[in-house]
Amino acid sequence: MNADNTDITSNSESQTSGNDPIVIIGTGLAGYTLAKELRKTDKDVPILMLTADDGHSYSKPMLSTGFTKNKTAEQLSMADPGRMVEQLAVDVRTFTTVTGIDAEKQCVLVGDEAITYSKLVLAWGADVIQLNIAGTAQESVYAVNDLLDYRRFREAVEGKQRILIMGAGLIGCEFANDLINGGFKVDIVAPCDGVLPGLVPDQAAAAVQDGLTEAGTTFHLGQVVESIDKVEDGVCCTLDNGTQVVVDAVLSAVGLRPRVQLAKDAGLTVAKGIVVNRLLETSAPNVYAMGDCAEVDGHVMLYVLPLMECARSLAKTLTGTPKEVTYGVMPVVIKTPCCPVAVLPPPVGAEGEWSVSGEGRDLKALFTDESGLVKGFALTGALVSERQALAKAVPPIHR
Ligand SMILES: Cc1cc2nc3c(=O)[nH]c(=O)nc-3n(C[C@H](O)[C@H](O)[C@H](O)COP(=O)(O)OP(=O)(O)OC[C@H]3O[C@@H](n4cnc5c(N)ncnc54)[C@H](O)[C@@H]3O)c2cc1C
Repeated sequence: MNADNTDITSNSESQTSGNDPIVIIGTGLAGYTLAKELRKTDKDVPILMLTADDGHSYSKPMLSTGFTKNKTAEQLSMADPGRMVEQLAVDVRTFTTVTGIDAEKQCVLVGDEAITYSKLVLAWGADVIQLNIAGTAQESVYAVNDLLDYRRFREAVEGKQRILIMGAGLIGCEFANDLINGGFKVDIVAPCDGVLPGLVPDQAAAAVQDGLTEAGTTFHLGQVVESIDKVEDGVCCTLDNGTQVVVDAVLSAVGLRPRVQLAKDAGLTVAKGIVVNRLLETSAPNVYAMGDCAEVDGHVMLYVLPLMECARSLAKTLTGTPKEVTYGVMPVVIKTPCCPVAVLPPPVGAEGEWSVSGEGRDLKALFTDESGLVKGFALTGALVSERQALAKAVPPIHR
């Protein structure tokens, strides 16, 4: 669909060059939030949004509470692209996959078509990590990283009962709790020894695992799925210790990786994500990046709060008032109601150690450096309510 019914008038005060639009690639939370912020400061600057998907506006965090709330993909959509075009006075081209960037000519490529930009914003998210697993039932393996994925997965498991989740990280644990709430039997297989690896210390992980086990999850930790094969009554997942688990579908939640390839091909500097400074500038003139694809001042943070901060400052920068993004203290709440978690991971490479207090599943874990300064925390159970107060004790990423 080309939702091209906008009413964009020319804006003589616009800071962009010529009549070329600001082109935003991606209509996820990053792309649409940026467009909203741009409209607060400039009602007229032409904005063209290109997206590989159907352009519906939705809140991605809701995808892992959809079974609990019994919501279809249609019910999770907050607005179709036509409505976004009206609301934001932008042009949206859906099912339009950008295939290249020519930073010198200031254009993006969609196949043979070249679309010129005044400024380009890469907000094209992260890829699901794909595992190469043997077997005859590949079509029964799903991953949910957008609304279209959610629709496919929901339709596939309609009327079914048994799901195996690969991965015990944030997304795997959230889906386990959600699917159990939705009436499914859930097995989790992961190579780590405890859930939420790298995010929380062992005791906090044990509290979450305990909660999920009590809710009905069967864990197979320290193991991986070696093959997934069709059998008469579903798909049989064979683990590396020989255990076989027969289920109706497999949900892969083994992680996400910022999309960097097209940027790299265009000569932009990439590391874990597309490298940008605090003005969200890439190494190419007039090209910016934000959201899950970006590595901002060394930080790759695949969460909502950082992209909101980026959208606010980038909107100012793109409309003529350069503003560096400022990351404060941004704890993440993990949606496992059987044992809720709020976590502020310590900065990558931070020196220090965890200390844990509390009882049962109500734990407070603090990561302190040698001078006693709190650099991160994990709260579980009832103590999650302390996150705002605790966040005030932690130094912000940027002052
Ligand atoms: C199940 C789940 C639950 C989550 N829960 C939370 C939570 O509770 N709290 C939290 O803070 N974070 C959460 N997150 C993370 C958060 O949702 C993401 O960080 C955020 O939504 C990323 O937004 P984005 O716009 O950068 O990427 P996306 O939403 O992935 O959008 C990328 C866009 O780029 C488009 N695109 C990609 N490639 C191309 C191309 N070549 N050409 C054109 N278009 C392209 C896509 O079609 C899409 O429109 C969750 C994530 C998941 C998967």
